[in-house]
Amino acid sequence: MSEANAERQAMDVDIACVGFGPATAGFLTTLARGLVQPDGTPAVESRVMPGMPPQVLCYERADDIGFGVSGVVTRARGIRQSFPDLDPAQIPLAAPVRHEVVLYLLDPIGASRRSPLLRIGDRAIWGLRGILPVEDDALPLPYIPPFLRKDGGLLLSIGQFMQWVGAQVMGTGLVQVWPGMPVAAPLVEGTAVRGVRLVDQGTDKQGQPDAGFMPGMDIKAALTIVGDGPMGPVGRQLDERFGLPAGRHRREWAVGMKAVVELPEHSTLEPGTVLHTFGYPEPEIFGFLYVYPDRIASLGIFVPSWFDSPVRTAYRYLQHWMLHPFLWKRLHGGRLRSWGAKTLMESGRRGEPVLAGDGYLRIGEGSGSTNVLTGSGVDEAWTTGVQAAEGVLELLRNGEPFTQANLERAYVARRRASWVEEESRVAEKARDGFTKGIVSGLIGMALSGLTGGRVNAPGKSLPPAQRLPSIERYYAGRISPAEIREMRADCATRGASLHNALMDRCGWPAIPFDGQLLVTHQDALLMGGKVQAPAGYADHVVFLYPNLCEACGTQICVEICSGQAITRAPGTPNFDREKCIHCGACVWNCATPHPADPERGIIEFRAGTGGLHSAEN
Ligand SMILES: Cc1cc2nc3c(=O)[nH]c(=O)nc-3n(C[C@H](O)[C@H](O)[C@H](O)COP(=O)(O)OP(=O)(O)OC[C@H]3O[C@@H](n4cnc5c(N)ncnc54)[C@H](O)[C@@H]3O)c2cc1C
Ligand code: SF4
Ligand code: SF4
Repeated sequence: MSEANAERQAMDVDIACVGFGPATAGFLTTLARGLVQPDGTPAVESRVMPGMPPQVLCYERADDIGFGVSGVVTRARGIRQSFPDLDPAQIPLAAPVRHEVVLYLLDPIGASRRSPLLRIGDRAIWGLRGILPVEDDALPLPYIPPFLRKDGGLLLSIGQFMQWVGAQVMGTGLVQVWPGMPVAAPLVEGTAVRGVRLVDQGTDKQGQPDAGFMPGMDIKAALTIVGDGPMGPVGRQLDERFGLPAGRHRREWAVGMKAVVELPEHSTLEPGTVLHTFGYPEPEIFGFLYVYPDRIASLGIFVPSWFDSPVRTAYRYLQHWMLHPFLWKRLHGGRLRSWGAKTLMESGRRGEPVLAGDGYLRIGEGSGSTNVLTGSGVDEAWTTGVQAAEGVLELLRNGEPFTQANLERAYVARRRASWVEEESRVAEKARDGFTKGIVSGLIGMALSGLTGGRVNAPGKSLPPAQRLPSIERYYAGRISPAEIREMRADCATRGASLHNALMDRCGWPAIPFDGQLLVTHQDALLMGGKVQAPAGYADHVVFLYPNLCEACGTQICVEICSGQAITRAPGTPNFDREKCIHCGACVWNCATPHPADPERGIIEFRAGTGGLHSAEN
């Protein structure tokens, strides 16, 4: 048999899970506890291996558990309910929350794009600095509203937390987690999901059979749990196939770029400290800094989709943010340990898909669980996983099949009756104000939070194609169209990034690289992200319509790319799989509408291997 004709293998299991993030971790933790009796005999029986407990397999895309997720502050209500005796000292880098501060950062350079209203505010703060507690160009807010506070919560490196949970889950011997195994697609039959197909191995970049071709195995399962996160290709394929429920859409996103840093010896930041910032390097960019034990901190920024810059980039902004006088005073002399980026689905509940269908369930951020008012996703994702497991155990015990109606009753009804649902309703419109700018956005959040979601700032979200201005329009009054044309041509000739040239031109100073904490983007990939991509897999970022890319004015996919994996080229941009960190930002930044679905752009993000190789994030 030729390699191209290698036969596709199939395997039967009871439950197949896609992705091992906090949602699936919550699912498997709860499920494993209910599969056997205290004496070790099966509480319910496998259909594919009678006499045994159900066969449960989880496939994770990344090369190990906990690679490339995020450092978080969380109230951890759901997590603590699963682990009532949880001692943070058991989990590397975990710490109880001790001290929270929200800081407004003034612009010490004068290069950011501030509205007249914000400039007036800045001048007032500056004028009153004798009275206000302004320190190093930062103003701590006197009050943090209760909906934002994480009193009694935890700081977690999600990478470390996932490794800790993963060891416990697999230690039960009842479930298996397989990293390095991307799921290519759901196996759909009519309206039902019958399992998943793993990616083909031994292919060329276009996915054609090559040396050692091995077609991805079909994993047939009575139930498929989809917990592949905000950009997961399996969830996205289900959405394309079954559609989003009426009134739902996914237009709000953010890319979170972060670093784990060894703080300098002179640092006075205490473990358990939580800093949230806004106002700088651009007013729309939010920042965070969480202090773990042993002088380690997790820090980063969010660049949201409603920051309508056609050259929005994260890496350089992250460095300017670190260089803000307030932060740099506490960071200089520190060392980069780890780095990465990931998409956050800011649509939250508004992006909720069909949660249950025949043979499948959606859990976690990809199911719309993230609370966009409280900035909390982990505990919500975990809790939806727990609710799914409770429902699944109920159906298993009753011998009921995994039909849509049964799953709706056993899982969706539990979710609807829980705090996750109640709080996500409060949050649903909380960010609408940001479509009109930072000030109305902040006012909107306060209104929604303080009135329990009864009063919200108005705002209409639009798909990227209807929002993003051209580069010329965005820089009107600062850089002339003729100069932009020249800069674009020059950057194309040099293969250089246009956003750097534009930022330089707008007065942003060069980054003083120190090789320790302020490193080049390439060094961040190699030292911080430790990015790797094994050979023999298809490219997972695909430009669907080369002719449309050729006509694209912004090429924002190049500018936003967190890993410099997408680079400028005549016509369609180049994609280098070995630099991709799977953040997914290119997908929701493409502002050329897909001919069949104007809600999305023309980049397809498929299942792929490799990416970040650090579990410190
Ligand atoms: C920078 C940043 C900071 C954040 N800070 C906070 C915070 O402070 N507090 C908070 O509560 N939340 C925070 N969040 C949000 C939080 O990280 C998410 O809400 C949470 O991780 C969602 O969990 P999940 O299990 O649904 O999805 P994910 O964590 O995205 O996990 C999905 C998993 O599926 C895997 N996967 C994807 N595709 C496939 C495939 N095809 N095959 C197999 N596996 C696949 C992925 O590799 C991943 O491991 C932050 C997010 C970011 C990006
Ligand atoms: S993928 Fe989208 S943003 Fe990138 S070049 Fe093509 S059309 Fe432009
Ligand atoms: S190509 Fe990869 S690293 Fe670049 S934006 Fe897309 S997903 Fe992120």
